[in-house]
Amino acid sequence: MVLSELGKKISGALRKLANRTVVDEEALNEMLNEVSRALLEADVNVKMVQALRQSVKKKVNLEELAAGVNRRKLIQKAVFEELCNMLSPGTSPPPLKKGRPNVVMFVGLQGNGKTTTCVKYAYYHQRKGWKTALVCADTFRAGAFDQLKQSATKARVPFYGSHTETDAVKVAREGVDLFRKEKYELIIVDTSGRHKQDTALFEEMEQIAQAVQPNSIIFVMDGTMGQSVYDQALAFRQRVNVGSVVVTKLDGHAKGGGALSAVSATKSPVVFIGTGEMLDDLEPFAPQSFVQRLLGLGDISGFVNAVKEAGVDQNPDILKRIQEGVLTLRDLYDQFQSVLKMGPMGKVLSMFPGMQDLIPKGKEREGTLRVKKFLSIMNSMTDDELDNPKVQFNQSRMIRIGRGSGRDVKDVEDLLAEYKRLSKLVSRVGKNKALKTGDFSQLQRNMPQQLSRMMDPKMLQQMGGASGLQNLMKQFSSQFRG
Ligand code: GDP
Ligand code: MG
Repeated sequence: MVLSELGKKISGALRKLANRTVVDEEALNEMLNEVSRALLEADVNVKMVQALRQSVKKKVNLEELAAGVNRRKLIQKAVFEELCNMLSPGTSPPPLKKGRPNVVMFVGLQGNGKTTTCVKYAYYHQRKGWKTALVCADTFRAGAFDQLKQSATKARVPFYGSHTETDAVKVAREGVDLFRKEKYELIIVDTSGRHKQDTALFEEMEQIAQAVQPNSIIFVMDGTMGQSVYDQALAFRQRVNVGSVVVTKLDGHAKGGGALSAVSATKSPVVFIGTGEMLDDLEPFAPQSFVQRLLGLGDISGFVNAVKEAGVDQNPDILKRIQEGVLTLRDLYDQFQSVLKMGPMGKVLSMFPGMQDLIPKGKEREGTLRVKKFLSIMNSMTDDELDNPKVQFNQSRMIRIGRGSGRDVKDVEDLLAEYKRLSKLVSRVGKNKALKTGDFSQLQRNMPQQLSRMMDPKMLQQMGGASGLQNLMKQFSSQFRG
């Protein structure tokens, strides 16, 4: 989780308050002092911090509270809401529409992470089924096109650019025209930056916007700059029609809170945050979900969305079989594919209360690779092997499958062992009363324990968390389908 220090301090202050025998004015002030200090340390603007204090005090107004009101809950709720307010700009980003070319132009100062973010943004949407392409309209910096070319190739996103052309407007127009003709749905234009806001940059920016007529302009800014980004964000907004913002480098930087709150104050919605240098280090941003995760409360709505987007809950057959306690290899295949579609394991898991630290960074990738290997092995199985749980996998069968997929027999054994383990788990789930009766209230209450039990360390190591998580997703998705 980004900004975990800040989150820990705030939730610590709230916990301290909850543990007090008497919740009076003094206790409230002490908590607010602690929260304020944490926010100031994260470089949140002093006026915004004061405003938060006042709003919380106004909301809870201890003197006029009727007896019997749960003060702790009320105060926690007020802090939560005010943190959300602080991060809510009151505006929404321009929507992308499927089935037409959406041109999205990225602007921002040099070094703030534009190019990196363009490619991450492309990768994110392409994985969600958008026909996506990148245009490099940075002719200012030497090597800019090579940088984009390299990471676009890695992300397998088509790109356009030129090593020799110096007219950025021309390259932008050509690239966008080309991809429009080829019916791309999302055409992302990376522009050049300058070291500081200067006239040349703004002029070029305006000309490119004029030439490609973007549906949306995204301003990329460096989260390590804290609240000082406020002026910069305003300046860009005044020159071009900034529709939304991506705040980058929020991994492990103390000033991220300041940057996020400052952007909101300019009334530009933050749509994504950058949390690292890798392709998938880009997270959709929504104030409520973010604050929930920040405070370690989990983010069930984010999780349900991820499940929906992955289409996991669109396969009632699997769910039904799991309810009956039977798992076929084909089910496993479908589940593995869904896991891959849901994106990085660690991020999905961080949406669960108290689960943030469960998967160490780095382990997720191993898990993903393992899932991919399993999929390739299952690709060389016959229909009967996939659908019939009674098939015996003897040595010659395993040799055939291993050969067909270019893997060792040991890998096949590995997969089958995993399948066996999961089958057992599923047969246990099949006996679960909640799943049979549809009464999930109990299940929901026990969720965190249940999750950690499913994810015992050995299994986590084996699977990078995929199996237990998938299983749980089934329970969750059915729960939320109502
Ligand atoms: P541009 O000049 O605006 O196009 O910036 P680049 O995309 O070239 O990024 C500048 C540097 O910031 C590169 O070294 C990137 O790897 C790094 N960077 C970009 N986004 C992030 C992020 O979210 N986290 C971290 N840690 N580094 C980032
Ligand atoms: Mg660049």
